[in-house]
Amino acid sequence: MVRAVVGANWGDEGKGKITDMLADSSDIVIRFQGGSNAGHTIVNDYGKFALHLLPSGVFHQNIVNIIGNGVALNVPKLVEEIESVVSRGVTAPRILVSDRAQLLMPYHVLLDTYEEARLAGKSYGSTKSGIAPFYSDKFAKKGFQVNELFEDEKDLREKVEDVVTLKNALITGLYHQEPLKGDEVFDQLMEYKDMVAPYVCDTSAYLHQALKEGKNILLEGQLGSLKDPDFGIYPMVTSSSTLASYGAIGCGIPCYEIKDVITVVKAYSSAVGGGEFVSEIFGDEADELRRRGGDGGEYGATTGRPRRMGWFDAVASRYGCRMQGATQVVLTVLDVLGYLDEIPVCVGYEIDGEVMRDFPVTHLLKKAKPVYKVFPGWKTDITGITDYDKLPKGCRDYIEFIEKELEVPITMVSNGPRRHDIIKR
Ligand code: GDP
Repeated sequence: MVRAVVGANWGDEGKGKITDMLADSSDIVIRFQGGSNAGHTIVNDYGKFALHLLPSGVFHQNIVNIIGNGVALNVPKLVEEIESVVSRGVTAPRILVSDRAQLLMPYHVLLDTYEEARLAGKSYGSTKSGIAPFYSDKFAKKGFQVNELFEDEKDLREKVEDVVTLKNALITGLYHQEPLKGDEVFDQLMEYKDMVAPYVCDTSAYLHQALKEGKNILLEGQLGSLKDPDFGIYPMVTSSSTLASYGAIGCGIPCYEIKDVITVVKAYSSAVGGGEFVSEIFGDEADELRRRGGDGGEYGATTGRPRRMGWFDAVASRYGCRMQGATQVVLTVLDVLGYLDEIPVCVGYEIDGEVMRDFPVTHLLKKAKPVYKVFPGWKTDITGITDYDKLPKGCRDYIEFIEKELEVPITMVSNGPRRHDIIKR
């Protein structure tokens, strides 16, 4: 059976913790999109880890971790991350890399950096990890699949020259920077070949067999619905689909195999990078929530940037769940809200004098003003509670209101960063 863990918001919903928890009952954990641009934070018996490219199953020795074909594969980052978990006492994880995954090259990082600088104040707020140039190349058919590293050297050199000619037109003509050298790009590819060789296989064929044997497979999404390039807040989105449906394509399994879409929703809102964020808050109110949020504050796992903060947005989260095809919801970081006297929830968007309940396209979002319903705070620390009925009534009212708004059952409530801080309903 295949399950997916995905986010309904802007990312940073706490998917890492939920994946790590569900990995216990999985044989295979798969990353199917994105690259090392975002990060999951996982707190377990080995300590606190920020994983960027590795699937969250790496802490379980019996799990096979797959980097699917949909991922932007930064080879040095992958090797670095494996070494960093091993150096902290984790047994060398079992990792397979799809022979159809494409390579994120140093020039993708350069192009990302040059473009953000060119856009200056109008930049996308990219993490400058090369993700947008990488996916542009993939779909322009100028990327390198891992298997090409193992093909005839002459053919690969020819392709390198073609790619370098194209890139240099941009690098020198538009950005006025040093041109790439074909030989250096080729040597880089050969270096990657040696580094990645121990992990490469036809992962889709491996998964086909695993499905036949009834193995439990977990797909691990990065970011959330609102960062999806089609259904998110375009253009302030990421460059690969963040939706569970894409999980099938990003690892090469039939779409009908994904039976359970566990969608992680945050009890308040946070976002990194630019883009529309209707229920955003500012000033002292935002600072306090940021300081108290997550595990040690709401700061980006990859960049350390302070996250933008806001109240729970029912309009965006309901839409986020719908686009994921959520079968169940995990509501996270609820413990953080225990200090508040009152908790506003955004229940509608006022646009040109009308209140909408459906999440609109970007140019309408720009005009949207939040319509709030205010809940009384429960003013208690709920960490450590494991029984739903033991939660304060105000807290249960908040959860049950959100569940009604989402139109999806909330099956778990997360009330702390550690693996056992979870209330099953
Ligand atoms: P992801 O990318 O969706 O995995 O989310 P991040 O790891 O970027 O952010 C989630 C942060 O919240 C991490 O620091 C987690 O350790 C922390 N976290 C996850 N669930 C909970 C929770 O229920 N309560 C608290 N206080 N922190 C949580």
